Amino acid sequence: MKNNFEVLEKALSGELKYDTSTLLQYATDASAYREVPLAVALPKTKTDIVTLINFAKENNLSLIPRAAGTSLAGQVVGNGIVVDISKYWGKIIEINTENHWVKVEPGVILDELNMALKTYGLFFGPETSTSNRCMMAGMVGNNSCGSHSLIYGSTRDHLISLKMILDDGIEYEFGDLTRAEFEAKCELNSKEGKIYRFFMDVLSKGNNRTEIIENSPDPTIKRRNTGYALDLLVTDTFFGSDSQTFNLSKLIAGSEGTLGIITEIKLNCVQLPPKEKAVVAVHLKERNQTFKANLIALKFNPSAVEMMDNVILNCTKGNIEQQKNRFFVQGDPGAILIVEFYRETKEEIEIAAKAMETELMATDMGYHFPIIWGLETGKVWALRKAGLGVLSNVEGDAKPVSLVEDTAVAVDKLPEYMEEFAQIMAKYHLDCVYHAHIGTGELHLRPVLNLKDPKDVELFRTIGLEVAHLVKKYRGSLSGEHGDGRLRGEFIPVMVGEKVY
Ligand SMILES: Cc1cc2nc3c(=O)[nH]c(=O)nc-3n(C[C@H](O)[C@H](O)[C@H](O)COP(=O)(O)OP(=O)(O)OC[C@H]3O[C@@H](n4cnc5c(N)ncnc54)[C@H](O)[C@@H]3O)c2cc1C
Repeated sequence: MKNNFEVLEKALSGELKYDTSTLLQYATDASAYREVPLAVALPKTKTDIVTLINFAKENNLSLIPRAAGTSLAGQVVGNGIVVDISKYWGKIIEINTENHWVKVEPGVILDELNMALKTYGLFFGPETSTSNRCMMAGMVGNNSCGSHSLIYGSTRDHLISLKMILDDGIEYEFGDLTRAEFEAKCELNSKEGKIYRFFMDVLSKGNNRTEIIENSPDPTIKRRNTGYALDLLVTDTFFGSDSQTFNLSKLIAGSEGTLGIITEIKLNCVQLPPKEKAVVAVHLKERNQTFKANLIALKFNPSAVEMMDNVILNCTKGNIEQQKNRFFVQGDPGAILIVEFYRETKEEIEIAAKAMETELMATDMGYHFPIIWGLETGKVWALRKAGLGVLSNVEGDAKPVSLVEDTAVAVDKLPEYMEEFAQIMAKYHLDCVYHAHIGTGELHLRPVLNLKDPKDVELFRTIGLEVAHLVKKYRGSLSGEHGDGRLRGEFIPVMVGEKVY
């Protein structure tokens, strides 16, 4: 293969690396997986990407598209050629301030995009805790979202269209098509025509549509990243709704680099939030109270509801960086709910916060409700976002692991679901950390396991499977934002059913 790589290297205007040091750097992402790739390519042009595709086909190798490599489920770890677009694909192509959209190359970093948009009073709605490094193709690949998914949804919701090079080496654009345009595509004698004919064939049959919908997460769940988003090609298109269009880019969002290499992305932008913002840090005595307290908080139209449990809060105590961000924490709460309000005036926020506090107190939930205003809210969010980082520093070999850290169920089912989840943890005598996006039914649940111990490695899979069945029972999504990757890929048939799979 080395000889072949030498030939490939010469054919690229970008770079190809296959020295041990580079390969080791690319053997991991942010997951528990490690596999050394055969080579790492840094393509500079579309021709380079086509050359890589042809080379992979000739040599029966896989290509692994990679942006910043912050995936948590092993999406960018594999034994093929890693195609890293982070170096040469970072240009913002066009900002349209009138119609609020932006066209970017795949390697634009989210924070940099938002800095450019801020000048025009705009920003990209979905955010991740990795916003200072994650890139737009990575966000599309994983259909990422963050603390404000309650109001901004996920990346898919803001994706207008994209360009992607498929395995025939041709770049296609996927965006809104009218029925007439869709039918015209079906007539094409090309890969594109074949793709649209496939969807025409599958989605025009009523029994297929029913099977897809019945095996998909509850439609009220905004965070839905398990498998390909086939259900949305039914519910959001002329195949199964009043919609006049069909947009295949909605399925490419969340496809985790399995369909082609994205070369350009057109995204919707939103206006900067209203002037006034504040968070109420609802202190709860017991962690289990948060699931019902969340339902009360949601009645008051917050922009976000997030959770930190006592394990995370305790970890931040000994962390020098985080100590200053704990200024609002009183006592040793079992959990804190961070309820954020965006409003036009301070008075509106005060009214909402007071009404929420009154209702929580009436049900004996919460003992301290500080309101944190304006820029100070940044510290609260910094504490909340520190979650995963501080957990990784837990002493000893047993660590809170990413395995079932991404489940989402309908918020009203969360109390019941979490009761059953806790029973699974109790059955295996496991501690578990709970944090993050409770307002949208997603909690990052991290059982504490020692992956150096073969017994816990076995348990890792057992827990994964049992929780997959539990999520299915509640019609939830096994992945709400992090994607399936190698971690959850094997459970997709459980979630979507064998036929749809
Ligand atoms: C500490 C920490 C906190 C996190 N917090 C969040 C969070 O709040 N919300 C959230 O949603 N996620 C979160 N994540 C997960 C991760 O940061 C996001 O999924 C992020 O959007 C991935 O971006 P990336 O640039 O790192 O992409 P990568 O990890 O490089 O890739 C992501 C996927 O996109 C595919 N891809 C990349 N480029 C292309 C391309 N050009 N063409 C086709 N496919 C491509 C890859 O193959 C892969 O499947 C977190 C991760 C960490 C480590």
